[in-house]
Amino acid sequence: MSVSIATNQTILVVGGGVSGMTAALEAAECGKQVILVERNSSLGGRTALMYRYFPKMCHPTCGLEINLRRLKGNRNVRVLTQAEVDSVSGERGNYTVTLKISPRYINQNCTACGECAKAVEAEIDNPYEYGLSKTRAAYLPHAMAYPLRYVLDPSIVGTPDGEKAKAACKYNAIELDMLPETVELKVGAVVWATGWKPYDAAKIHPYGYDRFDNVITSLEFERLANPHGPTGGKLLRPSDGKEAKNIAFIQCAGSRDENHLRHCSRICCMASLKQTQYVREACGEEGRSTIYYIDIRSIDRLEDFYLKVQQDPTVKFVKSKVASIKLHEASGDLILHGVDTEGYHRYATQHDLVVLAVGMEPESNGITLPADIITDSSGFIEGAAGGGQFAAGAASSPLDVNRSVQSATAAALRAIQVVHKTSTIEGGR
Ligand SMILES: Cc1cc2nc3c(=O)[nH]c(=O)nc-3n(C[C@H](O)[C@H](O)[C@H](O)COP(=O)(O)OP(=O)(O)OC[C@H]3O[C@@H](n4cnc5c(N)ncnc54)[C@H](O)[C@@H]3O)c2cc1C
Repeated sequence: MSVSIATNQTILVVGGGVSGMTAALEAAECGKQVILVERNSSLGGRTALMYRYFPKMCHPTCGLEINLRRLKGNRNVRVLTQAEVDSVSGERGNYTVTLKISPRYINQNCTACGECAKAVEAEIDNPYEYGLSKTRAAYLPHAMAYPLRYVLDPSIVGTPDGEKAKAACKYNAIELDMLPETVELKVGAVVWATGWKPYDAAKIHPYGYDRFDNVITSLEFERLANPHGPTGGKLLRPSDGKEAKNIAFIQCAGSRDENHLRHCSRICCMASLKQTQYVREACGEEGRSTIYYIDIRSIDRLEDFYLKVQQDPTVKFVKSKVASIKLHEASGDLILHGVDTEGYHRYATQHDLVVLAVGMEPESNGITLPADIITDSSGFIEGAAGGGQFAAGAASSPLDVNRSVQSATAAALRAIQVVHKTSTIEGGR
């Protein structure tokens, strides 16, 4: 099967996070045809799962809502979810791309009424909650999901639960016999906006992420703080559901470390500074946040945010790379050991929850990229030798949302130049 609108004047954008959406919209609003493919069931990427954004502390829904409105109003963008690139061949201005589309088992008749979810009994790990909670096997990805359509987990297809979901749907939206599809496209340029993934915290053995329930990652903390998250926005620690009030934030968990990621992930300092304000919001003056850091990296306008957090009496800064974490058996608390490099004294400090500011690595690490794609030593995409494929946002470097949007706009412009040139040459023949 091939998507009929695709020609060598079409731009393919891979990844539907904030960067992919931006690149697609910028190109589409210039009149170019765009196909936006997203591996998950919904657009939004990792930012849709954040509680608030630094530096303004607004909700990600604002930015996402604006982009979704632009997207819904633009007929030049075609969105394909649950789709992944299998191969790219060809050259600048003339690529052939093969996509693999997984079945959603729910078609466009879905009104998101939720009756299918009520009908099924099976539960799965919620794919949007980093394993912190379960969801029914028929689910809406998240509150801002686009397309606004439920998904049926493949595990219930062929089971009585699948049949129950089908019977509960009044709109004939459930297709239990949906099959995987392979789609071939002709496109002129490709924008890789595949984003980032968190470094596997379990690899940092001294911090015990895989041994201690109350050592969590900064992404999990975003979900705990979120009113739509697994604890309804309460900072409840995983081991016993106790409210966490004395929280340690460990910087450079995996980053700037020869044994893990060599690069600085840039965002983690800002993310932890932001998260201290979640503690303040949840616990008021009683909250205690301690940031253990090598040095705080905040630049430009983000420095003001750092200065503001420094004034907060509930936040303490300890200049130290934490050496190890031990469990305090009786309380479930954690004891952090290390040396404070301002004064060179040893500490053994107790906290009721530890949040690891895990590094960002390219999501494209581990997938087979086209042979002409050039990556840096960490795997971030720099571009393609032939000049018709570009990286946008966190696929190119660990960037915050503002810089991701700038990078995506630049990638869109480069892609437009490629397809524009192709159409001019063809028009001149
Ligand atoms: C703990 C933490 C907190 C943060 N808080 C903030 C903040 O407050 N403010 C801020 O500005 N920034 C923040 N950031 C950074 C922010 O998350 C990134 O700037 C943002 O996610 C970059 O967006 P992106 O679209 O480039 O990548 P992503 O959000 O990673 O989106 C990439 C998309 O591509 C899809 N994809 C991946 N591979 C494929 C494939 N092969 N085929 C199809 N689709 C694919 C993914 O499913 C995903 O939807 C934070 C980061 C961390 C770690």
